[in-house]
Amino acid sequence: MQLAEPSPSSLHPAAIAGARVNVLDCDRVGLGRLLGDLGEKPWRSTQIMRWVYHERHAAYGGMTNIGKVLRGKLESATEIRAPEVVLDHLSADGTRKWVMQVDAGNRVETVFIPEPDRGTLCVSSQVGCAMACGFCATATQGFSRNLSTAEIIGQVWRAAEALEHHPHDNRRITNVVMMGMGEPLMNFDNVVRAMDLMMDDCAYGLARKRVTLSTAGIVPAIDRLRELSGVSLAVSLHATDDTLRDRLMPINRTYPIAELLAACRRYATLDPHRSITFEYVMLDGVNDSPAHARALARLLRGMPAKVNLIPFNPFAGAGFRRSPPPVIDAFREVLRALGLICITRRTRGDDIDAACGQLVGKVMARAARHRAEAVPRDVPLSPAFPEAHAG
Ligand code: SF4
Repeated sequence: MQLAEPSPSSLHPAAIAGARVNVLDCDRVGLGRLLGDLGEKPWRSTQIMRWVYHERHAAYGGMTNIGKVLRGKLESATEIRAPEVVLDHLSADGTRKWVMQVDAGNRVETVFIPEPDRGTLCVSSQVGCAMACGFCATATQGFSRNLSTAEIIGQVWRAAEALEHHPHDNRRITNVVMMGMGEPLMNFDNVVRAMDLMMDDCAYGLARKRVTLSTAGIVPAIDRLRELSGVSLAVSLHATDDTLRDRLMPINRTYPIAELLAACRRYATLDPHRSITFEYVMLDGVNDSPAHARALARLLRGMPAKVNLIPFNPFAGAGFRRSPPPVIDAFREVLRALGLICITRRTRGDDIDAACGQLVGKVMARAARHRAEAVPRDVPLSPAFPEAHAG
């Protein structure tokens, strides 16, 4: 049977280029458009997505409600390809980390954190990161490239597959946090498309509040995220004044604290009942005094906010120490006394380098890395950033 003859202009760009389209790169609308290009009904995208995401089929042969003709067309024009798992580590505390190969020279890490009432998957958005935060292990490897939508949603696909075959239980992914390697808002389009798939009933069907994007504070992209997505927002704050934050997080020189918090207040108008999470890494003698806690409470006054205190996870050459537990406890109590919801994040997966800020591992990295000391205000959000910052 011959393929229908779509007009060249209606062909999917990848098809025009002669490449096979990875179905994991398509949201439901995109897959429907691709089916239209193949002369098929766009609504069939829902059937295909259910096979791909609910049943985890990576081949068309077993898709019993898809006719043979369409299966043939799809086999010619598309592929279903998630990153390959090359390492699978299980921590003593149940945290599990996968290292996934995304191309010949690049790997990323994905972490599953089981808790009694939830299973949270921490997903990477870039290979490395250009934000150069001083307390972060990922920053030390510099930036290589953005991940595609398929490479982002493919991490969920692989994790769900691995968890299904776990010998001791059948833990499920109930929450996803875009908090792994990379700054997700510097890979805006691919990340938003992947998060749309996380929330699509034909894929993972997670509620909007169960998908969280964590950012170092790319202000224009926070506004764009508010308009286009509305997932839960987490912000890496880590300091209460610009002098210190400039030092810890170079992005602050471009988007200082006042601008960042103004964007957070705009974001909060989406749903005043949903808090914005502020991440605050506890660095001994740097940002952990009661005066810092009071300044933090002042900054967040009037915003639906909660604060996650993160005990710093040391790594070779970090130059910081973790605040002692009594100092962290005292900081938390000051915040609580001033009316803020505040928790100390339990350190998970230490023994497999899966704890927060440790995602660099022994990940293979491309030789040429790029680092941004500060991001120019007019930086394109996606996907041209790597070229814009090639150094
Ligand atoms: S903390 Fe996040 S934004 Fe900063 S360097 Fe690490 S991965 Fe990048």
